[in-house]
Formats: sequence, structure tokens, C-alpha cells
Amino acid sequence: MRAASQEVNEWIDGFLFVANKPILDLLNTKPVLADGPTELLSDCRALERWLIASGMVTSAKTKAIVRGWRRSTEATAFLEQLIAFRERLRDAVLRIESASSPSDSFLAEANSLLFQYPLRTSLHKRNGKVVRETLFDPRKPTDLWAPIIDATADLLAETESSRIRKCESCVVHFFDTSKKGSRRWCSMNICGNKLKVAAYQRRRREENATAN
Ligand SMILES: [Zn+2]
Repeated sequence: MRAASQEVNEWIDGFLFVANKPILDLLNTKPVLADGPTELLSDCRALERWLIASGMVTSAKTKAIVRGWRRSTEATAFLEQLIAFRERLRDAVLRIESASSPSDSFLAEANSLLFQYPLRTSLHKRNGKVVRETLFDPRKPTDLWAPIIDATADLLAETESSRIRKCESCVVHFFDTSKKGSRRWCSMNICGNKLKVAAYQRRRREENATAN
């Protein structure tokens, strides 16, 4: 059941979601497609769609605010900064994947953003239970840093680093939530089957060569 539903949800509104963590799927917004590396965050409209698809923007009110920034120069500037940050985060993640740690300069940058854009939370009662909810009420495009930098901090400090991995066959990163921790590919659909078929054909060729 899980595998099937994962396949269905791999692409949401034109973006890849295979990482189990939206912040890793931010790295996956520049996949290598048939025509080579492809920037999926091509403009503010695409950013708006990604924020909604990733679940970073959920309420109708916040969606309306973000929609209002489609032609904003501030949002365009934010998107440029975000894409540059994404590449520095990619470097940090590649370091983690090779059993090293992010650079001090990246941590300093993350700390500066955490300080400037704290993610606020509040307590509510629901069915007699107290729940903690994120208060995300952006007033300007740079406020979008709050959920992004919070997720970055969670990834760097609270996530089992041995389960942060890159697909063996492509540039996609993911957090392995499988029971055995043996996930190797971004997805069976995209790389897994391709590699399995290639391995099968190689075995067949070897068998034929031995038989002849
Ligand atoms: Zn892959």
C-alpha cells in the first residue's frame, strides 16, 4: 500500500517529492531530466506552487499572500537568494552524505537566518488535548525564510545523518525511512527499475556468454 501511494505522490504539481522531507526535496527542484539539469523554480509562480506542494504554505490566507507576490521584485530577489542557498545546502548535504559535516560558514549563514526569521509557535486546545502549532504569517517575501531555515536546522541537527542519502543513479537526495534503512534510489519508477533491468540484462549476457 505504502509503495503504491508513494508512487502516486512522487510528482506534485510538477515537482518531485520523494525525499520524505520537504527541505531535501528543495534540493530536488533541480533534477536532471531528458534535456539535462532543469531548474524547476523558474519564477515566482513556480516558487508559489512549490511552497504549496511541499506543505510549507498551507492556509488559505497565506496562499493568498504568496499569490500577491507573483510580480513582486522582492519575491524575485528572494527566489534568487533561495536558489543560491539551495546550492550551499546541497554542498552541506553532500558533506553529510560522505560522513563529514557542513562547513562552519554554512552553519554561520544558517544561524544568521534562524536569528532573523524565527518560526513562531503557539498552543491550542483540540479535543481536550493541548497541541503546538506553527504560526506562519508572512508579511514580506523574505519571511519565507522562517519555515525553510527551521527545516534546515531540523535536517542538520535532528535527523539521523546516515539515512540522508543521494540516489545511486541520479542527483536526487532523500531521507531513508525504510525499516531496514537500505533504500538506494530516488524512486523505483525513476531509477530503481532502470537499474534493476540493466542488472538483469547484464546477468543474462553473462549467463549466455558462459553457456556459449
Ligand atoms: Zn535516482
